[in-house]
Amino acid sequence: MRWILSLTLAVLLTGCASVSTTVEDVSNTLPDHTVSFTILQMNDVYEITPVEGGRTGGLARVATIRQQLLQETPNVYTVMGGDFFSPSALGTARVDGERLRGKQMVAVLNTLGLDLATFGNHEFDLDEEDFLMRMEESEFDWVSTNITDASGTMFTNTEPHRLVTFSDDHGNSVRVAFVGVTLDSNPKEYVQYANPIRSLYDETEYLSGRSDVIIGLTHLALEDDIRVAAEIPSLDVIMGGHEHENVEVYRGSDFTPIYKADANARSVYIHRFTYDTRSGELALTSELMPVTGAIPDDPEVAAVVQEWVDIAFAGFIEQGFDPGAVVTTTTEALDGRESTIRNRETNLGALIATSFLAESGDADLAVFNGGSVRIDDVLPAGDVSQYDLIRVMPFGGSVLTIGIKGSVLAQALSQGIANRGTGGYLQTANVTRDGDTWMIDGEALDPNRTYRMATNDFLVTGLETGMDFFNVEENPDMELLATHRDVRMATIDELQRRFGRP
Ligand SMILES: [Zn+2]
Repeated sequence: MRWILSLTLAVLLTGCASVSTTVEDVSNTLPDHTVSFTILQMNDVYEITPVEGGRTGGLARVATIRQQLLQETPNVYTVMGGDFFSPSALGTARVDGERLRGKQMVAVLNTLGLDLATFGNHEFDLDEEDFLMRMEESEFDWVSTNITDASGTMFTNTEPHRLVTFSDDHGNSVRVAFVGVTLDSNPKEYVQYANPIRSLYDETEYLSGRSDVIIGLTHLALEDDIRVAAEIPSLDVIMGGHEHENVEVYRGSDFTPIYKADANARSVYIHRFTYDTRSGELALTSELMPVTGAIPDDPEVAAVVQEWVDIAFAGFIEQGFDPGAVVTTTTEALDGRESTIRNRETNLGALIATSFLAESGDADLAVFNGGSVRIDDVLPAGDVSQYDLIRVMPFGGSVLTIGIKGSVLAQALSQGIANRGTGGYLQTANVTRDGDTWMIDGEALDPNRTYRMATNDFLVTGLETGMDFFNVEENPDMELLATHRDVRMATIDELQRRFGRP
């Protein structure tokens, strides 16, 4: 109880609402000077469909949860803590020559009834034209205190804060302010990023006399959310994103709660608030709800999800894929997690590189950038579909055979080591290291010999980190010898050689 008392003191000192957590269900016993409202929170949602083999996630299930909450109170507000335009396998499907790039996600969230979003770093994976189209398509609002376009103007549908008034039948109301903020880890020329914590501080100062409750809708690393809780006591609750595993911590002098749900809507947070309009006291019961097959699909949202899956799959079929087809049945799990494939050789990385050797036919070695593997997951032993391969390498591209001088090859292989921890770490076949010496197919690399190297087309564009010299069009010591099939087709063949056909 002392804790609640100290929170009441905070109300007097700051003139702002304080938060106490309660476990009782107060909805049936509310005195008529209180207003209740519910916030449904998601963050970091890349897939519109369920994940983990259909066991968890799925926006049609989230829509059902929202409909159930609306049965309790009309004051339901649905928020998204950023990272949902990209990356996803569906988003790479080409329709009428254009990749979807999050169009499917915006359409589904519009139908679901999302009210408010803030930017995640992955929204800026899109180029400016696609990003602006997604903003135009959004029927929900956006909030950000620290992001503008390059000229300093707010993007369309975006405000620094959003004030929402929730009322009840007795004429009571509460003014809830949402402030958004995003980390600047993905700088793009069309975006200007102000300091996130400074911007948030200024915006909450402005809102302090103008709202009853202030909620941070943040896309920051947890350590920065903790700093925000400590440095901005007038923020009542932080609903965050960026981390992919759920978080519930309390920080700062008034124990500001920080909540993050699991990525891909594997869970959602349900925050039930009660605000006492006389005392200014705020009570909050927060529930992390797993999104599983126990929750039926909302039929309207499920129909929109299916429509976009069909559109995307038609795009994949046009590119020569049969997404639903089982390619093989593996007897070992294949590791495509970013934490491994960007740091050391993995069985999946070696399998893909070996597939390039076979596709090329007469190459001495194969290399590709670990960053072209995007699945960030382990493919469990069992059936692998063509769609799984699309998830592994959504950007595709051709296998190439390149003639390359040994000295240039050595420089690239060493840069691959320097790139450890990033997408520029190289996965290889027929390449080993003996002390400081690179070995190609068991023999010391000869700087003057010309090797035949199998690779993916992105790696020889010169765009990889620290590898601007590795450009087949500009480097006279590199020559394109042959262009082969798509990297995923090559990998399917290798899977079938290794694990058999279905
Ligand atoms: Zn993020």
